[in-house]
Amino acid sequence: MSTDAPVFCVNHPKTETLLRCNKCGKPVCIKCVERTPVGYRCKDCLRVQQAGYYTATPRDYALIALIGTIASIIAGGIAAALGGLWLIMIFYAPAAGGIIAEIIRRAIQKRRGKYIALVACATLVVGGFIGASALPILFALGARRIE
Ligand SMILES: [Zn+2]
Ligand SMILES: [Zn+2]
Repeated sequence: MSTDAPVFCVNHPKTETLLRCNKCGKPVCIKCVERTPVGYRCKDCLRVQQAGYYTATPRDYALIALIGTIASIIAGGIAAALGGLWLIMIFYAPAAGGIIAEIIRRAIQKRRGKYIALVACATLVVGGFIGASALPILFALGARRIE
């Protein structure tokens, strides 16, 4: 078989092509291929890739919400204990957020999902507020003893 033999698109047997999917190697025409950051990919491979990209399960989202809430309440409590010094907060808050994000990432075994960042951020904001306001509330509870 000559290497110069015309190659036809797997989906369009009458369309000659020089393009190949760089994943599965199937010859595909310009209509059946898409340019991605990793090269030309056929539609089949793109579908598989996208399906495989978002691997998070509903259980992961529940886990994110749970871990995020607990961790950010603790982090918020520490922030409140530090006295809300803005100079410390500038360094503390992003670091705490980063640590919580890493804990979450490990908990869900680095699975990915469309809304993971959104859920995690929302949980952290809510948890942070609860944590940060818990300390003054606890102080107030203690102070109640004053007659
Ligand atoms: Zn392919
Ligand atoms: Zn085609």
